[in-house]
Parts: sequence; structure tokens; C-alpha cells
Amino acid sequence: MKVMKFGGTSVGKPERMFAISKLITKDNEQKIVVLSALSGTTNSLAEISDSLSKGERAWAKQQIDALELHYQNFIIKLVITEDAYSKAKAVIAEHFEFLNIILKISYSDALNKDILAQGELLSSKLFSIYLNEQNIVHEWLPALDFMTIDALDEPQIGTIKVKLAQILQRFKETTLFVTQGYICRNAKGEVDNLKRGGSDYSASLIAAAINASVCEIWTDIDGMHNNDPRVVTNTKPVEQLSFEEAAELAYFGAKILHPASIWPAQTYNIPVKLLNTLQPDAKGTLIISDAGSTGVKAVAAKDYITAVKIKSSRMLLAYGFLRKIFEVFEKYRTSIDMITTSEVAVSVTIDNDAYLNKIVKELEIFGSVEVDSNQTIVTIVGNEITETEDVMKKIFETISPIPVRMVSYGGSRHNISLLISRDNKENALQLLNKRLFGME
Ligand code: ASP
Ligand code: MG
Repeated sequence: MKVMKFGGTSVGKPERMFAISKLITKDNEQKIVVLSALSGTTNSLAEISDSLSKGERAWAKQQIDALELHYQNFIIKLVITEDAYSKAKAVIAEHFEFLNIILKISYSDALNKDILAQGELLSSKLFSIYLNEQNIVHEWLPALDFMTIDALDEPQIGTIKVKLAQILQRFKETTLFVTQGYICRNAKGEVDNLKRGGSDYSASLIAAAINASVCEIWTDIDGMHNNDPRVVTNTKPVEQLSFEEAAELAYFGAKILHPASIWPAQTYNIPVKLLNTLQPDAKGTLIISDAGSTGVKAVAAKDYITAVKIKSSRMLLAYGFLRKIFEVFEKYRTSIDMITTSEVAVSVTIDNDAYLNKIVKELEIFGSVEVDSNQTIVTIVGNEITETEDVMKKIFETISPIPVRMVSYGGSRHNISLLISRDNKENALQLLNKRLFGME
């Protein structure tokens, strides 16, 4: 059994739904198809929710109507028969009636989650109507019946496994299932979600729960690239990555895969394939436990990083200093990415500066604090990178014209991270592309 997940752009137009219906019926392997919301929908729903939270009901109503119109136009091209069209209209009516009702209810966090869940419910129901019209036999599965998270928002893979097995048991003859990514139920039984971009995570959790032969993530790019295609002119897909390498890349830049989706696949040893709906025959990227080759595989960059340096002569020969510093970040639930230390100073980076002022204030008890915002982490990812000849030399020679604020290596053998000013990012990525991959 396999999992095939399609992102927002892969379901965003009727033509794209036609194309994916071909992809999911290519072979007879039993499969669960996981769908995102149509591209743009979750953003619109988040805006509607935001307007409601501010009491801007008239504006929210306008946004709801605009979104409804988008779906009305969508189904005109999606289906042909009267019967399918009236079913699609009924689905739209049901979900937009709900959105119109919430205009009258007082706003809460639970309501926000209900609003955000509409996108995946709409896309998967409309797709199911299209499949029925095409006589493609399948079962529509409500993810809210099996995807659950605990009180700390962590997915309960054991429960998901049991619930899914029970559901699948009921449809032994069925080879095709269609479900929703992103949405789930929380510990209180309310509708919740796996955070933005979470459909990948759903796919990986489902793949782990059913012990799938593969978890295919279909997007509109042919895999993870060796450098950022939005910044660098020439890039190419990386054929194979280990789970560790993929996790580093997903976290530090490559927007193609939600970073959390690595661990379920890795824990249950399920191969993940990143594939392109626009070029279904392209190899894409295979992510498995084996890295396949040694050396540098890719460079990625993560923006909006803030560096915080704490300098204190009291750190000299002291113990427990780092713990005190980390506790401050922990208190404000702010995660640290890079760390470098010298005998009298510690530098760390964070990507969430919501509590920066409070953090700095508390850190000042320990020493002088310096903050640099608008930094970028450039990460060089590969397998046994420093054991590969000349890699360190190449990296440092290449970036020598660029001021480097921090360097980190050794946390894993898969990653060297450099912190530079955001202004130097394009230059750094281009130079590294030329030197490490011979690509200009
Ligand atoms: N629809 C959700 C989002 O836009 C989840 C996803 O597409 O992965 O964040
Ligand atoms: Mg995505």
C-alpha cells in the first residue's frame, strides 16, 4: 500500500485534478491519496479568521463571498454531468453556509481551527465527486476520524495506526482512498490542524501508520534541488538523500517538504519520494536511510534569522553558564538553531523574535548582549562532508569575500552552517554553486 500526497498547486485548477486522477490510477497498488486545499484557500481562510478575530465582520463576509465565487467557477470546469455538478454545488453550499454561520458566532481559537479546516474538506470532496463522475472507484475518508494529536499538539501515531487499520478493514476490496492532509482532532476532540504546510506531515504519518511501501509527495518542482532555484540561476534535483540530510535541508530552506514530515518516515523506515505533477516521469528525489553517496549534495538558506551574542567574563572557567542562558530561551518557548561558543561569549540564532526584547532583558543579567537581525543561515548539506577532500577549503575560500558572523559544524556530519548578513545571501549561494557544483 502506498501514500500519494498532492499539494495546493497540484489540485489548484480543474486541469490539475484531471492530471492527478491519471497519476493515481496508473497502477493497481492500493493507495491513500492525501490532498491539500486548493492553492490560496488556506491563506484566504486565515485572513477571514483574522478579520473575524478583529470584529471586522463586513470585510470577512466580502472575503467569504469572494472565496465562494472562486469555488463556483472551479466546479464549472471540473465536472460535466448535471448530477456531478449539483453534488459539487451542494458541497460548496454546505461549507460556505458554515462559514456564513460563523460570522454570527463569537470568535475563539477553536472556531479558527474550524475555519482553517474547510479548505482540505472542500478540495477532497470536490475531487471525490470528479472521480465518481469518471467512474473511478474509491472511498473518501474523513481524516478527522483517524488523525489525532495529543495535548502537546504531537501526533499520536499509535492511535492513528489503530484507527486507520479499523477503517481499512471495512473496505478490504477498495484500492483507492482519498483523504485530507493538514486537519486532525486534538486532545479535546476538537477540529485542529498540523500547522501550515502540514499536509506533508499528514502524508508521512499515514504512511508510517499503514507501513506504506512509499510516501510520494507530489508538488510542482522535480524534487529537492542542490541550491535555491529562486536565488540561483542553475540548479538541479538531488537524486538521493538520507533522512538526516533531507531533514537538514527541509528545515534550513528547501520549502518543498515540511520538516516535521521526516521523522515518521524515518522512524518507520518508509521511503519518501518527491515528485513533480508537471513532469511525472522525472526522477525527483528519493529519501531513504542510505545517503547513497558521500560529499556535498545541496546548499540551502534560511532568512529572517536573529543572532544573539552574550558576552561575559564570568563565563571563563564557569560551569552551568550555558544552562542559564538556554533556560531563558526555553522560558519564552523560542527555539535555538545555531550555537557557537568561545571562552567568554556565546552566540545563538533564533528564527522567532516574538519575545526578543524580553529574552534580551533577562540575558543582560549574565553579561552584555548584542543582537543582529536580518541574518541568513547558509547550510551546506551532504554526507560525511568534512571527510570528503577539500570541502572545507573550498567552502572557506569561496566565501572569503563575505563577512561570516558564525560558523557551525559537528552537530552532525551532514551539515556546515554559516551565518551571514541577508544582503550577502545571493552572492554566497551563487559563489558556492559555482565552486561546489561547477554550476553558474
Ligand atoms: N492547506 C494547508 C496550508 O496551506 C496545509 C498544506 O497545504 O500543507 O498550509
Ligand atoms: Mg506544502
